[in-house]
Amino acid sequence: MISEFSESTTAIDYSTVWKKCLGKIKENVTQMTYNTWFLPIRPVQLSNNILKVELPSRFFWEWIDEHYNLLINKTITEIIGPEAKLTYIIDEEAGEDENLLGDASQSSYSIPTIKEKPKVKHNFESFLNTRYTFDNFITGEGNQLARAAAGAISDNPGGTSFNPFFVYGGVGLGKTHLIQAIGNEIVKRFPDKRVIYLSTDIFTVEFVESIQANKVNEFSSFYRSMDVLIIDDIQFLIGKEKTQDLFFHIFNMLHQSKKQIILTSDKPPKNLKGLDERLTSRFQWGLTADIQPPELETRIAILRKKTEIFGMTVSSEILDYIASNITSNIRELEGCLIKLLANSSLNSKEITFDLAKKTVKEIGTNRKINSINIESITKTVCNHLDIAENKIRDKTRKKEIVRARQLAMFLSKEMTNASLKTIGLHFGGRDHSTVVHACASVEEAKTKDRIFSELIEDLRNQIELNST
Ligand code: ADP
Ligand code: MG
Repeated sequence: MISEFSESTTAIDYSTVWKKCLGKIKENVTQMTYNTWFLPIRPVQLSNNILKVELPSRFFWEWIDEHYNLLINKTITEIIGPEAKLTYIIDEEAGEDENLLGDASQSSYSIPTIKEKPKVKHNFESFLNTRYTFDNFITGEGNQLARAAAGAISDNPGGTSFNPFFVYGGVGLGKTHLIQAIGNEIVKRFPDKRVIYLSTDIFTVEFVESIQANKVNEFSSFYRSMDVLIIDDIQFLIGKEKTQDLFFHIFNMLHQSKKQIILTSDKPPKNLKGLDERLTSRFQWGLTADIQPPELETRIAILRKKTEIFGMTVSSEILDYIASNITSNIRELEGCLIKLLANSSLNSKEITFDLAKKTVKEIGTNRKINSINIESITKTVCNHLDIAENKIRDKTRKKEIVRARQLAMFLSKEMTNASLKTIGLHFGGRDHSTVVHACASVEEAKTKDRIFSELIEDLRNQIELNST
């Protein structure tokens, strides 16, 4: 591919380029995300395929990098070309605390869109996020057992009876953090060990790609070569028989050779209905540990830790208030601080009790919307239209199933933050253009057919109801 924009460029170019990027980004995120995180970014320079942007704070960058790295990467590669890189500078005028900037003499950070990865000697990417460590994982009653087991596994990967280590619990309670912390710790202490972290979604996509490329053997032997295999959100294997089958073989091979397997899920193994029983029974061979929502003291400790990490100053009164009002989800606790920080730094306001109150309230209103996900939408659509849930992911072209699938895709796009790619993935590994097409055809049918548009309305209500 030849880059559309090369070498020296004028001022017009970089803002046009950035506008094009924004256009793409907008298609993939919600309006709120777009407004909060992307609109404040200001392009300042484009030269030699390096686009430089200015951001309100370092924290801002970290947040974007953490959550939208893939999207940004993909977008700039598409718009600028395969060599594209993004660097950023911090807007010093935004009242940025020097602490936040780390080394204050350094005003320009040149971070390629991929974050620095842990240094391993191997020629593959471990995909571990170095931010997730034991150091910044707060232990309380709800996660004590899981945390203790995680420590023992890091001391002796594959050598404890905690194999597999199966962690389950509700969203935002620290499953991903904990299992990545194990990975990071092992990489640090045993640099020779081959450690890999990936989500079940990515595993599935890679598997499908390996089938298409006729490389299933390579795929399978790559994962069998690991010393530590960490797979997140294993519940997403439900309905994906072929992937389950392959995973079963990889699991057996690794387990037999005393390699460490670490898994998470939203439910305990025995409740993973629709997952091969050969798998669910194996998941219980080692240690199954749950993570429960944290009690008040732990919530306060977590908030304190996070303010430290973000370099924020927030009074204990405000922290107590937040911890008393956001009770069931650590991601929400953290989200609250982020919103506070975003609100205060964007409008250069101080973090006051009133601002905190307002932010907590906003989170309460969003909660209902957030508990809606692709799974719950699929379930409701299938129930409503009386179709078996696994059918919707099949290759079948039967009219009523295609229609149900398109509806579920459309509603997922409309009611969740999921990207087109993720949505496609959940419906049998279809690519994002299929989702675009589905949304367009539902949109069209909706305007032409009143009954159909009422059906959509019913489904929407049903989905919201089921989520409360
Ligand atoms: P899950 O995978 O269970 O949905 P995550 O691991 O993604 O949850 O956690 C959500 C957020 O909450 C992350 O930013 C994580 O760092 C933070 N978090 C969760 N548990 C803890 C904890 N015990 N101490 C500190 N931060 C935590
Ligand atoms: Mg997770």
